[in-house]
Amino acid sequence: VATVITHALVGVSLATAAPAAARGPRLVLALAALSVLPDADVIGFQLGIPYGHPLGHRGFTHSLLFSLGAGLAVARSGFGGLAPGSRDFRRVAGLLVLATVSHGVLDAFTDAGRGIGFFIPFDNARIFFPWRPLVTSPLEARAFLDGRATSILANEALWVWLPLGVVLLGLRLGRGRRND
Ligand SMILES: [Zn+2]
Repeated sequence: VATVITHALVGVSLATAAPAAARGPRLVLALAALSVLPDADVIGFQLGIPYGHPLGHRGFTHSLLFSLGAGLAVARSGFGGLAPGSRDFRRVAGLLVLATVSHGVLDAFTDAGRGIGFFIPFDNARIFFPWRPLVTSPLEARAFLDGRATSILANEALWVWLPLGVVLLGLRLGRGRRND
């Protein structure tokens, strides 16, 4: 994992691409929740599921298929007010899927643990990107708070928050120019 804060930040930033009809607290909450949802799989450790198992940590819940299912389910249950099949609905559904996918993508940039099972159940390989600048955040809150919190957040600020901020600012400036 990257930290919950960084996962949620990336998810929520997708709201900037949402259609006006869907913007608001509900969308922000849904994006944040979906961007951290894949780590619900840590419960597997309690259930005795090994890390490397397809249902283990960074396994199925981090896959593209799971992201598709979770994003579409939340779109249908939470944004049914948008006409199904309409452009707005498809756009919101796409952003919700992307928020879930963003979790595994961030994890694949981390420096420890196992790779991400993006293609489970079709292929159980665990995948990392070749370049992994992010420090893996410990799974337990206590271990995180015990000392490494500051350095982990500083690392994520450099490699995630800063680039994200630049992209969002760029989009805003681009939009402002178009509206001139
Ligand atoms: Zn994760």
